[in-house]
This record gives sequence, structure tokens and C-alpha cells, in this order.
Amino acid sequence: MRATIIVAAFFIAGCSAGPKPAAEAGGHGLQGPVEVKTPPLVRMVEFHGHLGPYVVLGYRAGEAAREILKSPGYFDLDADVTSPLHTPQSCFIDGVQLGAGCSVGKRNLTVTEGENVVASFRSKGGKAVRIDLRPDLPGKLAGWIEKEGVEAAAHRVLDMPLEEVLDVRLLP
Ligand SMILES: [Zn+2]
Repeated sequence: MRATIIVAAFFIAGCSAGPKPAAEAGGHGLQGPVEVKTPPLVRMVEFHGHLGPYVVLGYRAGEAAREILKSPGYFDLDADVTSPLHTPQSCFIDGVQLGAGCSVGKRNLTVTEGENVVASFRSKGGKAVRIDLRPDLPGKLAGWIEKEGVEAAAHRVLDMPLEEVLDVRLLP
């Protein structure tokens, strides 16, 4: 709740602060950093409506990109996500929006249909990273979802070390 208030206050302040250079502020007078204090699981469930492994993976990918690129996210990053355009894989897209702060509405998230889930992130400083699911993960996920349900599968991928779920590569 507190983070919601902080974010809302930030947006109001940003909107009433008068014109800023469009190039600096993503064209709408706003730039981070945004202080987020709500726990990730709560944010995922409130935004996405349930907890599943692909929303968790998208969140972790976005968070990893911010960390590796030393980016506050939100206004500083552009994300491109390729994914099958059906659930559960497409839930990854919502996770990226939460983890990286890139969103469809801010126009710094593009989504392309593809066979595999993969995301790339580029910071305004020009550094970029590509994040793929580990090749063996989709098969494991399908088994966990079938045997244990989506929530248990989500907790698994939340608790696993990053390198066991995602392949992270810096791009030139
Ligand atoms: Zn989902």
C-alpha cells in the first residue's frame, strides 16, 4: 500500500512539475527512480491476478537486467520480449513489466510472437543484455505445473538460483 502511495505521489509531482526536456524524460516529463517497497510476490499477484512460474521468470529477468545494467529501470530501459502469445508463457511479459518497470503504456516494452521466451533489455547508456530461459526449463515447468500446480511451480522458480532458470548474456 505504501509503495502505491509513493508511486502515485511521484506521478502527480511529475505531471505538475512543468515541461522537462522530452529526450531526458521519455517524452512525458517523468523519470525515475521509483521507490518500490511492496514485496515482489504481492505485486505479481495484484497486477497479474495469480502466481505462476512465467510471471516469476519475467520478474526475475527484469530484475536481473536492472542489476546487470546498473539501471533504475522504468524510464531508463527498453525491453523487447519474444514469447508465444498464449498463457502460461505469455505471463512472462507481465513479469517483465514489474521487474524492469518497462511497460506497454510507456512504449518502452515491445512484444513479438515467437516460439521461445526470450527478452533483451537496453539501457539509455547503450548497454544491453539478452536473457533466455534455460533450455531444459520449459520441459521441467510443464511437468511441475501438471504434477504440483502453477503456484508450486512459481515458488520453485522463485527459489532456484538465477543461473538454473535463466541464461544471461551481455550484448555488444
Ligand atoms: Zn499467469
